[in-house]
Amino acid sequence: MKTLDGKIAIVTGASAGIGRAAARLFASEGASLVVTARRAELLGMLVEEIEAAGGKAVALAGDVRDEDLQQRLVATAVDRFGGLDIAFNNAGGTVGYGPVTETSADDWRATLDLNLTSGFLAAKHQAPAMIARGGGSIIFTSTFVGHSAGMPGMGAYAAAKAGLTGLVQVLAAELGAHGVRVNALLPGGVDTDANPINFPDAPSETVSFINGLHALKRVAQPEEIAKVALFLGSDMASFVTGSAMLADGGVSITRT
Ligand code: NAP
Repeated sequence: MKTLDGKIAIVTGASAGIGRAAARLFASEGASLVVTARRAELLGMLVEEIEAAGGKAVALAGDVRDEDLQQRLVATAVDRFGGLDIAFNNAGGTVGYGPVTETSADDWRATLDLNLTSGFLAAKHQAPAMIARGGGSIIFTSTFVGHSAGMPGMGAYAAAKAGLTGLVQVLAAELGAHGVRVNALLPGGVDTDANPINFPDAPSETVSFINGLHALKRVAQPEEIAKVALFLGSDMASFVTGSAMLADGGVSITRT
């Protein structure tokens, strides 16, 4: 018996990084998947890989800021697989860096749209499908930034991601009686294209600085964060709701 046998899951941001690792892991643990991101070709490759390994996945390319996409993801889970049990709302990222005093209102709004409003739109359509099934698990990828560390240059991103942890608490209270659990996953630094350690011109000092922020003196591999999403999505976390779960390699408790 696998951890997610018989479960149906949506994974957003599945074309790369944490989302791709989670999609692979969820599928290998028996879940049927609806995966999304904007890059259709990468999603197609992921679906092929999952199917070749004996799993089930459907790709629906689009932008998570689009309410119509969020509706169609849920409808696809219901029509193709029979319902929705798990939603890993993971797509997100920064829209430029810079001090708050130099952040344009457009960049501020774009960051909130991508990281916070997308989560609201997702949950709005996912929750009814889960209620209809008697329960489920909604997970949002947040971050330690703006939760336990103020990182200069990341004001809009921090506000948006911290907004998710507020949304989680309200959703968990609203949906708990229906058996729907709602949690935020707060990674530390993760070795993906989004992390400055992987920017083409990242100086070695930046890489050492970011690694050194963590008690473990390294960033996470995406697969390590995917395992936490698996826990939160699965029945192993049956009494976990409304939480902001750190998986941050100790970055929050380190003073270097
Ligand atoms: P990544 O490798 O750059 O992946 C980001 C994913 O989000 C990609 O699949 C991307 O796909 C998708 N995406 C971005 N904008 C989208 C949009 N408008 N519509 C649909 N999909 C969109 O980065 P990652 O590190 O895995 O990031 C995943 C999550 O972890 C993000 O929410 C990020 O804020 C969070 N996080 C990352 C770190 C870190 O150090 N890497 C730390 C804490 C939290 P397309 O480009 O194909 O659309």
